[in-house]
Amino acid sequence: MAELNTSVQYIKGIGEKRAKLLSKLGVTDLGSLVGYFPRAYEDRTSFKPIAECLPDETVCIRAIIANEPVLSHVRRGMELLKFRIVDEGGAVDVTYFNQSYYKTQFHRGESYVFYGKLGGTAQRLTMINPLFEAEASAGRVTGRIMPVYRLSSGISQKLIADAVRSGLAACGDKLPEALPESTREQYQLCHALYAYENIHFPADYSALDIARRRLIFEELFTLTCALGFLRGRRAKEPCAPLPEVSPQEFYASLPFSPTAAQQRAVNDALRDMASGAPMNRLVQGDVGSGKTLVAAACIWACCKCGKQAAFMAPTGILAEQHFRTLSSLLKPFGMRVLLLTGSMTAKQKRLAREALQSGEVDVAVGTHALLTGDVCFRDLALVITDEQHRFGVEQRNTLGQKGERPHTLVMSATPIPRTLALMIYGELDISVIDELPPGRQKVDTFVVDERYRARLNAFIRKLVGEGRQVFVVCPMVEESESLPENVKSAEAFALELQEKHLPDLRIGCIHGRMKPRDKEDIMLRFSRGEMDVLVSTTVIEVGVDVPNAALMIVENADRFGLSQLHQLRGRVGRGQHKSYCVLVSGASSEEARKRLSVMHETTDGFRIASEDLRIRGPGDFFGQRQHGLPEMRIADFCTDMDVLTSAQNASKAVLDRDPGLSLPEHAPLRAQVERLLAVQNGQFN
Ligand code: ADP
Ligand code: MG
Repeated sequence: MAELNTSVQYIKGIGEKRAKLLSKLGVTDLGSLVGYFPRAYEDRTSFKPIAECLPDETVCIRAIIANEPVLSHVRRGMELLKFRIVDEGGAVDVTYFNQSYYKTQFHRGESYVFYGKLGGTAQRLTMINPLFEAEASAGRVTGRIMPVYRLSSGISQKLIADAVRSGLAACGDKLPEALPESTREQYQLCHALYAYENIHFPADYSALDIARRRLIFEELFTLTCALGFLRGRRAKEPCAPLPEVSPQEFYASLPFSPTAAQQRAVNDALRDMASGAPMNRLVQGDVGSGKTLVAAACIWACCKCGKQAAFMAPTGILAEQHFRTLSSLLKPFGMRVLLLTGSMTAKQKRLAREALQSGEVDVAVGTHALLTGDVCFRDLALVITDEQHRFGVEQRNTLGQKGERPHTLVMSATPIPRTLALMIYGELDISVIDELPPGRQKVDTFVVDERYRARLNAFIRKLVGEGRQVFVVCPMVEESESLPENVKSAEAFALELQEKHLPDLRIGCIHGRMKPRDKEDIMLRFSRGEMDVLVSTTVIEVGVDVPNAALMIVENADRFGLSQLHQLRGRVGRGQHKSYCVLVSGASSEEARKRLSVMHETTDGFRIASEDLRIRGPGDFFGQRQHGLPEMRIADFCTDMDVLTSAQNASKAVLDRDPGLSLPEHAPLRAQVERLLAVQNGQFN
């Protein structure tokens, strides 16, 4: 008897060799075989009278063989089988190459269905190697919607289709029904067997739709169940609760009052930390929304109880900036902050480590340097990471292991649509800071081309004359990549500006091949006002605060993602000066211009992100697989967002009723969830 885990070799026609080829496609047993979904479909549903056919069309024809097939040997190793087929209105000459064994299958006067591409001329149509079926038994490969699979060498469409058909016949009834009955009914989804049969061999297009809908739902439902399941499991691991504190005392020390959104985020976090379970929270807010303040409030609450906190930033410059901000915010409370980055001397590092271990210092702000093995804390209770997606999951865990199940807070300026954030940050709770501090000015944004260059240079000069500073960003070019024509390299462009256009201005440059320490040095000098113009690659994208910068120019702007442009734009308009963003692009395609014009139209990071996501897809959006989500077989995080929402609601309902998925009716679902988590191999944790 065949089971889902029976080897594909069980199927007639699949021996050791083919099984090996199939395994390259991930198909090893009957379960993975029937789960190997088509990548597309071929419409073979409509039959065409020959009189209406034209060369180059791909068609199904129902016709009679008009003469006895003739087999000829053209030369060695080349055999032709030829005959003519006719219907009421026309004729087609059919040729098969090297398939002499068909001779016994075709008989003059009998009816067949042929499917293939027409050649020849309208007067004399031909078909070469068409698919065929005897009319009486047609419907397997003609007259229907046929699946098209992703192939690998040595495997044909027919081989996979036949194998899947046999697989479904052998174990279709064993397919587990992972969707609970009530969920299936509520969302009007078909049964598993119907879905599998029709995703491969749809009876018609509406059956295909029904099947797809169910399978996409199932996939997203399983994923959201897995994430919810993890979240539930995590909540059960207790940790010592921090005493509940009111942030008012901290707020009172600030030169401004926190926005309502900042207060909500702080309250969420303080509540988490007092709950007795480790906090795992994402604070998401647009550039300039004031996330640092939320971090500071949490650190304050934690240190107030005599515990330590660590704050990790992706670059040394950022770490230094956060170090300064946090030091001044926490100073009124006598809390001690130290900095730990890779560019410090061995002695400085040693002193810092000693201070952390003895508990002499309350807060460590740093880069990856915080992660090294010899960094120990006396009592680390809170770990904060800025721009988390730049750190690997492993790095986040490493820092977490330096304390006894510390609370974690992750800050991100990437405005991910909420549904997607839920997926990507899976087991994290989310606070959104959806409000900017009052008095922020809108950064005026323009999209221009080279014709504007002279005026742009004049504009730089004018602003610098007024005492302002200017960022110029060029696209990142990989060292190996030769510079495409018309793409500006930061170095060359800085030189050109300095020598040709703005010889009297102080122009600096940061590029990818510089040592981190040199980059930081230049960045520091720029932020101190020792340079007027800073030309760089995207190293300045994250976080650096230069309130005096009033103009952001992005060269070859079409080579950037919209969210990236939004982040770059966030570098200006941080002070009291009127600020501008100029996107220079020579791209002439309608689409590129339309995309860039979104930047001119809106400053809403969320709208920009969804636009970006729609155009580029999540893979590009987050960088290659950085989001850590499993590969989906059929669902698409972009186009299936609405299904994702339903799936999320459904999984929540199921988990509310049965948090451990231990009810008998949830056994198939649980198995599927466990399989997914096993495949993820700890990625989610
Ligand atoms: P981001 O969310 O991009 O990390 P920051 O935390 O760097 O934003 O804050 C940006 C600027 O806004 C900082 O100069 C900070 O002092 C200021 N800021 C933060 N919160 C407020 C507030 N409630 N009112 C006024 N200014 C604020
Ligand atoms: Mg920040």
